[in-house]
This record gives sequence, structure tokens and C-alpha cells, in this order.
Amino acid sequence: MAVQALASVDALGGDTGSKQLVYRGRALHMESVCINRIAAAVPTPFYCYSSDAIRAAYLSLSAALKPIGASVCFAVKANGNLSVLGVLSALGSGMDIVSGGELKRAVSAGVPASKIIFSGVGKKRSEISSALEVGIHQINIESEAELEAVVEAAGALGVRAAIALRVNPDVDAGTHAKISTGKKHDKFGIPFEDIPALYAKALAAPELDPVGLAVHIGSQIVDLSPYRSAYSGIADLVRLLRSRGMPVRRLDLGGGIGIPYDHGSSPDLGEYATIVRETVGGLDCELTVEPGRWLVGPAGILVTEVLYIKETADRLTAIVDAGMNDLMRPAMYGAVHPVLPLKHVRQGSHTYQIAGPVCESSDIFGTYGNLAPLQSGDRLAFGYAGAYGASMASTYNARDLAAEVLVDGDRFRVVRRRQTTEDLLTLEEETEWQWSVGSGRA
Ligand SMILES: *Cc1c(COP(=O)(O)O)cnc(C)c1O
Repeated sequence: MAVQALASVDALGGDTGSKQLVYRGRALHMESVCINRIAAAVPTPFYCYSSDAIRAAYLSLSAALKPIGASVCFAVKANGNLSVLGVLSALGSGMDIVSGGELKRAVSAGVPASKIIFSGVGKKRSEISSALEVGIHQINIESEAELEAVVEAAGALGVRAAIALRVNPDVDAGTHAKISTGKKHDKFGIPFEDIPALYAKALAAPELDPVGLAVHIGSQIVDLSPYRSAYSGIADLVRLLRSRGMPVRRLDLGGGIGIPYDHGSSPDLGEYATIVRETVGGLDCELTVEPGRWLVGPAGILVTEVLYIKETADRLTAIVDAGMNDLMRPAMYGAVHPVLPLKHVRQGSHTYQIAGPVCESSDIFGTYGNLAPLQSGDRLAFGYAGAYGASMASTYNARDLAAEVLVDGDRFRVVRRRQTTEDLLTLEEETEWQWSVGSGRA
């Protein structure tokens, strides 16, 4: 595994990846709160998010999209914490959901149903019905079979369902194979060539109101050119559908904008907006984008404590109290999150492999260079952990789900308490046998 240079602590108060995460007096702060102060009150590991960073990201994205009139629906799966959703919802953000659970989260956060889009490749019939009951803005359809399920659910409820067809544009997003969603062999979307017939079928169903098309080609996209290919293809489809007399009034352009985890570059929002304008801007459609990672990723850290330093013939390993169950991205995608000591002593020359306690060889965060010597009890933060961190966490190895903390200015609060094994054991209390097949009953 490559050794990560610790660019973030090259200079005190220098580039930590966000304006809200800075060293003051050698102590890492989020906004005005010293993270060690939080760690004194909340046991590690825990997630910590900056309200200000989330607001700033939302405002700069909506400013970049304003000239093209596109609205923003935050992809809840990146971070579904109610308070995080609340920060975004207060700014007027809509939400993109992929399950009935995320629908409940968005509604509980106070997001009006008229601003919620239901995406996802395998919606259960019960989830479709719940979405229609609350008056969801739009359901993005991923197959003909799903279209039929929506017809049935809408018919049973006596409502008309606004639907868009999610197109698989067969475009390579140039991202990790596990987060590519727009190539022909990916499970997502409806093949380009099948769209006209299915759109016509939807138009013929009185239970459906086909409003347009949706596309989402993948995640952590840093080279923007795949967007141009995908959106050009969508524009061609809109023209084709219209030429056959089929109305198209909304386009959902998906998410996927990448962030600079390893101090690479971040895509330019102005350039993204230009691509949108040049491809679909002249079609007179309502436009929506669905970023998840870009809005919340840089706003969060995962705080952990060094348990032990293990010295072997060829390396030093720092074993920390956060593991792959808390932050799955390194094990799942080979992702590298920058590491920031809570107390910055000086730039060092030590290289450590940082490993979690989970009983899996893949529970490794990475190998980091330029660190000052670490010892048991030192606290570290993994940066860019606000997206696909807490939302992907599990209790594997019977480990508690880490608490989540939100900072706003000089204040912080726990916005999800640690979920303990005691909480989980209540779901496993002994129950009566419910059915037996050996009884001779017919
Ligand atoms: C996951 C997802 C997104 C958000 O992706 P990011 O890479 O986090 O921006 C948007 N739309 C759909 C349909 C998704 O599945």
C-alpha cells in the first residue's frame, strides 16, 4: 500500500482539507471547538461533523447551479443523520432516498415529500406504497417489472405516480469498479435503447405521470468528462422522445461529484455547471442534481485513539480503537482517508501502518508517513469521513455503533448516541417457538 504523505500538517493551520478543521495552538479544532474537549465527553471512536462546512458546501453548490436553474436533492445514503439532514433541509435542500427507511429519515427531518425523490434498484412494494402515500415528488424507475409494481401500488391507492425512467447510458465514470453505476453491465438503470418503448408504456398507464428521465453514473467522479457523455446521451433521448410526441419535463442528473481524499484535486463546480448547461441546458426541463459525498464528506471526521504500538521486523503498526465496522471505505474500496493527530507536535519522519481492532486482515486504514512518534492514548482523526462513514457502519465483532457529534460555531452536541450491545441484545430476547413442522398437522 502506498505511503500517504501527510500534506495536511505540513504547516500548522495549513490545509486540513476544510476551512472548518484547523489547528489552533497545536490542537485540532472543528470550527471553534477543540476536538479533545469533545473526546473528553464522548468516548472514541466517534464521528464529528461541522454544520458550517455542510452549509458552505450546499451554498456554493447551489450558487454554481443557480444560473442553470438546477435544484439540489441530497443523497441521504451518504449521511442520514437527522441533524445533518436538518442542516441541509433548513437551507432548502431536497432529498434523494433509496429505501423506505431513508424516506422515514427524510420525513422525520422535516423535509416535505414534494422535495423527495425515490431512487434505487430494488424498491419493495411496501416502500413504493409508503412513498406514494406521503405524496413523494418522483419515483425513479429502474426496470419494467418495477414500473408494473408502481402501477399496481398507485392503482390500489387511487393516486397518480410521478415517475422518471433511470437511463443506463453505458458510460464509464472512470471511478472505482464498486462505485460505477452507469456501464451496461452495472445492475442500475434501463438500457438506452429500451427507454422509448417503456416511456410510451408509462404514458399509456392512467396510474402514472411520466415526468422525465434520470441518470446517475457513479460516485467519486473527479474527471468530469463522463458527465458530458452521459448528459449528451440524455439530451439525445429527450429529443428522440419529444420527436415521437412524448412530453419530457424533468431531468434528474444524479450525483457523483468527487472529493480530494488523498489531496488530489476536486472537480471544478463551474466546469460541472457548464457541462450541464451545454448538454441539457437548452431543453427547457426542470433540472435536479443529487450529490451526497460532495456535500458532507469533507465536513466530517472520525476520531479514534491509539490503543497500542506494535513493532515488528519490517514495520510499526498503530492499532487504533476505530475499525472497518466504523469506517468501511478503506477495506471496501481501498480508499485512503488522511490522518490528523488531535495534538500536532511537529512534522515527523515516522511511518505507521494504522490498523483497527476487527478480526479481519482487511481492517487497515493505510500506511502513513511523516508522522511524529505515536504512543498509546494519542488521538487521531481520519478526515473526509462525513460521507459513507457512519451511514455504512455495522456492529461486526459486536462493536458499538459509534456516536455522532455535530459542531456549530463554539457549540457541540451528540446527535446520535453510541448504540451499545445492550441496545442490540433487547432485540434478541428469548421468545416462544412460533411454528413446528414435525407435529403431524396437515
Ligand atoms: C448514491 C447516489 C447518489 C449520490 O452519489 P454521491 O457520489 O454521493 O454524490 C445520487 N443518486 C443516486 C441515484 C445514488 O444512488
